[in-house]
Amino acid sequence: METISKIVGKTSNYKSKNEMKLKRKTLKYGGKFTKRKYSTSREYVKALQKKAERLWKELGKLLHGNECEVKKNFPELRITHTKIIQGEHCISRRNKYFFLDINNHSSACSSCNQAKSYGNKSVHRAIDEIVQKRNSEWFKNAVWLDQSGEPNTKWGKVWWLEEKVEDLEEMIKEANEQNNPSCG
Ligand SMILES: [Zn+2]
Repeated sequence: METISKIVGKTSNYKSKNEMKLKRKTLKYGGKFTKRKYSTSREYVKALQKKAERLWKELGKLLHGNECEVKKNFPELRITHTKIIQGEHCISRRNKYFFLDINNHSSACSSCNQAKSYGNKSVHRAIDEIVQKRNSEWFKNAVWLDQSGEPNTKWGKVWWLEEKVEDLEEMIKEANEQNNPSCG
């Protein structure tokens, strides 16, 4: 009984924003996230990870465009592209070293994204090539580190995630300023 209520209690934490609000407590975990208060550091870490991923996608769109890069660079590929553009991780999402690294981003449509996750080699190669072309040194090192299988122990650390959020926000600001110089 206790276990069940524990599990139910856990899932209900993330059921909806309203429930999250109800769970808010007075504990505060510094940084720029002060508007929201999370009852546990685990919740805060999760929220930071989500926020950072959202920023990574936003920055990716600003830098790499809002159209499918596979379609643009490899028109010969036989694939029906869609208009839904997503942030594609070149090095797998499972690898948390590069999860928030903008070098690891490319803009790909939902078709390409799906094809890659289902093991379509041509799409996989196309995305590798797009990322490699942008920064070959980064790509070489990232592939090497990915193959070593070393886990990123900082992925669950508040200080590291806060730093990433800050970096990404800064880069978004810069990218926006470059896109619209008059606004600066
Ligand atoms: Zn596509």
